[in-house]
Amino acid sequence: MCINGCRPITGFMGDSYYGEKRRGGAPLRYLITGGAGFIGTHLTKRLLNAGDDVIILDDFSAGEASHLSMLPARIIKGSVLSAELVSEITTDCDAIIHLAAVVGVRQAMNRTLETLTVSFRGTENVLQAATDTGTEIFIASSSAVYGKIKDVPVTEEADCLLGSSDKPSWTYSAGKLVEEHLATAYHREFGTEVKIGRFFNVIGPHQRSAHGMVVPTFINRALRGEPLIVYGTGHQTRTFAYIEDALDGLELILSKGKTGTSYNIGGTEEVTIQALADRIIHLTGSSSPIRTVQYTEAFDEQFEETLRRMPDISRLRSLGYEPQFSLDQALAGIICHFRTWGES
Ligand code: NAD
Repeated sequence: MCINGCRPITGFMGDSYYGEKRRGGAPLRYLITGGAGFIGTHLTKRLLNAGDDVIILDDFSAGEASHLSMLPARIIKGSVLSAELVSEITTDCDAIIHLAAVVGVRQAMNRTLETLTVSFRGTENVLQAATDTGTEIFIASSSAVYGKIKDVPVTEEADCLLGSSDKPSWTYSAGKLVEEHLATAYHREFGTEVKIGRFFNVIGPHQRSAHGMVVPTFINRALRGEPLIVYGTGHQTRTFAYIEDALDGLELILSKGKTGTSYNIGGTEEVTIQALADRIIHLTGSSSPIRTVQYTEAFDEQFEETLRRMPDISRLRSLGYEPQFSLDQALAGIICHFRTWGES
């Protein structure tokens, strides 16, 4: 059976962890930077369903306004690069969830300077505003900070093994690592109430294939009977987290996490990209062939792949986290959504 009952939105999964923070039953007001993006849209719906207020700051470089059009959120079109705007909006917010970033390997490789600027300058603006107003803040980091580490599952204390700055494929990872260092420096030096979540390949409805995300790309192609393109050998692995599980993790970190600390947010099922393609073919009943293509054809010679990615989620589990959706359930839910609503 289809999770989400084929609805175009994710559902509120019961009493929010945020409920524990709500002061005397009054709604909390959240500022979500990058709130028009994939994770931000789901989070906005969840918070609004819980009775909270949401302000979204997004420059719509990748975000999608149509997903938010019927929602009672305040939407501000603007950039986190404007310190003045960020500072103005942050006044009278109870919490900031900082998601704004240039996301996706392809985008980051094509827009290296912007990727880095949004990471270091945008994140500093948000941290400064949070510090000035005493507002708690969540920073969205990524499994990309672990770089080329081969020993999995990775814990938060593991060394980060990034490739050379000659190679633009490391720009996104470097930007995310800078965000984390800024966050911990603000915490140490100014006592900023900041918590960091490292997302591992979040998937769900509304994720778009345009920027090369593997799951929506494979599902779209399978539903259209087009070949699924697997880069390299297909033996590289990923561990996917369904959006509802990822949001549970985010909520737990914000409400119960330790300040100045990072938490892996992810699933438990490591899968090769070849096996992912096979599963999507099976679940869609598609007759699409699977083709392998060398990285050099798809990206450029400088591209370096991460061979394995799987989180150790013990730290998040210690806050009460447990993923609820298997990979097959997540894929079935997304396929159902794509069949009914398309990629939108
Ligand atoms: P997304 O691209 O869908 O959302 C990012 C949003 O940020 C977009 O709406 C975009 O328009 C906005 N944005 C970009 N630059 C901006 C700027 N200068 N000012 C204001 N808004 C700006 O990506 P997502 O998947 O929702 O990711 C959200 C966050 O989670 C990002 O920080 C990303 O690095 C992190 N993350 C996501 C995943 C994942 O699997 N989706 C994995 C690891 C980390």
